[in-house]
Amino acid sequence: MTVRAELLKNIRNVEPYVPGEQPQKRVVKLNTNENPYPPAPGVKEALANLDAADFRLYPDPASGVLTRALAENYGVGEDQIFVGVGSDEVLALCFLTFFNSGKPVLFPDITYSFYKVWAALYGIPYECPELDRNFRLVKEDYYRENGGIIFPNPNAPTAVYEELDFVEDILHHNRDTIVIVDEAYVDFAGRSAAELIDRYDNLIVTQTFSKSRSMAGMRIGFAMASPGLIECLNHVKYSFNSYTMSRAAQVCGAAAVKDREYFESNVRKIVTTRERVKGELEKLGFLLTDSRANFLFARHPEYDAGRLFEELKEENVYVRHWDDEKIGQYLRITVGTDEEMNVLLDCLKRRLQS
Ligand code: PMP
Repeated sequence: MTVRAELLKNIRNVEPYVPGEQPQKRVVKLNTNENPYPPAPGVKEALANLDAADFRLYPDPASGVLTRALAENYGVGEDQIFVGVGSDEVLALCFLTFFNSGKPVLFPDITYSFYKVWAALYGIPYECPELDRNFRLVKEDYYRENGGIIFPNPNAPTAVYEELDFVEDILHHNRDTIVIVDEAYVDFAGRSAAELIDRYDNLIVTQTFSKSRSMAGMRIGFAMASPGLIECLNHVKYSFNSYTMSRAAQVCGAAAVKDREYFESNVRKIVTTRERVKGELEKLGFLLTDSRANFLFARHPEYDAGRLFEELKEENVYVRHWDDEKIGQYLRITVGTDEEMNVLLDCLKRRLQS
């Protein structure tokens, strides 16, 4: 086979990540873990104050206003922050930058499916330790020799959260490799590992504006780490996509971070709804993990999740269907507004009781 044919074949063999549907009609959309509430009011104001004439100029490649707002909010140095177009971009850059030792990278066997895609694209070998029966990571599995470690906390799609002492044990046993904690959902869970970045220069924490800050459409993610690691990320970024964040994303992101009160009340609302709906689903006979995210991971012992998924869709309620040969079928349900969740619960009640 020619080099060209081989390259094309290899790329075609990489299974791409398949995101949840983005229906263009009005539906109860509980399938991609977006936030049902609008962003902080300051975001609208920041957008209104933008001068379109400035769009002819490239944005600040260092995203200064956003970096400063984040550094202040998290009590870290500006040289400990790296921003990118959604945390997916930040994570992909991390794979490219830190996971190329040739040794296998470790991530859980049930986890965010993008990790496998990036590993395949960049030719990174990987091993996937199994979760235990309660969907918890087994920390000893991450003490073996590796070329890096990544896991979401809370994990996706299980929504299970590991406490910080667990994260610290993993960091402690892997001083020589990079450990990435993907905290896309941490604001709904508990403490962030960001407080460990001064003590562990092998730690990278990534977060996103897509969930707790209601800005999935603006595409903003960031990493927090020691200055040495952030410098490496900038080195790679400037080597191939010198400008990332748009002017709009930079100012809107900064406005969102500055409104702490709004952020906290937004998160509180989601968590309250999550706990209520979890109770209601349990009353209907569903079995759920201990969700600490903005979504629920549920199965019903007597009803096929694939069928429920299709039936909900017929009623314009979109959730995600998870089918895994080891754990079976689950529904992953984003926590929406109380009204949206009541529509979901009504549909389920009708289906399960008919
Ligand atoms: N990590 C995890 C675990 C996720 O579920 C998601 C959302 N699909 C992301 C990262 C990426 O989020 P974004 O690119 O919107 O910041």
